[in-house]
Amino acid sequence: MNIILLGPPGAGKGTQARHLVETRDMIQLSTGDMLREAKESGTEMGKRVAEVMARGDLVTDEIVIGLIREKLEGDKKGGFIFDGFPRTLAQADALGELLAEKGETLHAVVEMRVDDDALVQRITARSTCGNCGEVYNDITKPWPADGKCVKCGSTDVKRRADDTEEALRQRLMEYYKKTSPLIGYYYAKGDLRTVDGLGTIDEVQSEIAAALDKASSSAGA
Ligand code: AMP
Repeated sequence: MNIILLGPPGAGKGTQARHLVETRDMIQLSTGDMLREAKESGTEMGKRVAEVMARGDLVTDEIVIGLIREKLEGDKKGGFIFDGFPRTLAQADALGELLAEKGETLHAVVEMRVDDDALVQRITARSTCGNCGEVYNDITKPWPADGKCVKCGSTDVKRRADDTEEALRQRLMEYYKKTSPLIGYYYAKGDLRTVDGLGTIDEVQSEIAAALDKASSSAGA
């Protein structure tokens, strides 16, 4: 199955993608993670996008489409989860073309709906484990008192440079201006499934599982 997790920053796309990787042997393709990696490893492209990302703006379609094109050449295992991609209509069209070239299709687009106040709370309180990527929240799931990640024991707490209120406001603006039209785009194509992203992680997991099972049974029908 190839799926898109669609939603604003802080909707929980990364957390849910990680669960699907563990339970369904899928491959997570997060353009945000790829860009952060490029930035940290100091590549030319990483240097070029660092400022754009810190401001909360979108990087160019050309760059992210290139990153995805490369990853589609690799092993697909249980299918791809597109996390944070596509974010513009041009990216959505490009993804359709790239998949068609590989003889692949998109099986579902899962929209994770969350209200804006919840996003601000989630993002400004967010930290992640620098080693395994486990996500924490200062209020609802604080970093353990012994300083060690519950999942891998690492003590490397990371906060994203763009998880500030100012950058978040810009990321939300970009989302509403450029990414939210994709909801209508995929609805019209018949691929859209909407889940309530405000529940607990387990509740959202179950809703996504139900949406994917429904999509795969209708694809097989
Ligand atoms: P994320 O980790 O998905 O929140 O992405 C972090 C930042 O990376 C975004 O605010 C953008 O600056 C950039 N980015 C990630 N994915 C894309 C994309 N598909 N198109 C353009 N910019 C992106």
